[in-house]
Amino acid sequence: MSSKKGKESEKGMIRGGQVKKGETYCPECDGRIIIKAPRLGQKLTCNDCRTRLQVINLNPLELDWVA
Ligand SMILES: [Zn+2]
Repeated sequence: MSSKKGKESEKGMIRGGQVKKGETYCPECDGRIIIKAPRLGQKLTCNDCRTRLQVINLNPLELDWVA
């Protein structure tokens, strides 16, 4: 029995909330980025602003600019 009694219907809680694994936001343009099977140190390019990013944290999934 798993009963989730949370306010998950609230929209607009992008930051600070729990994010699904593999889903995060670009630190540059706030565009949504979905990564399948993210790995620490994985590098990618934002589709919106073409910024080069890399995975710096997995739980929660976080991206940062490539140094
Ligand atoms: Zn971006």
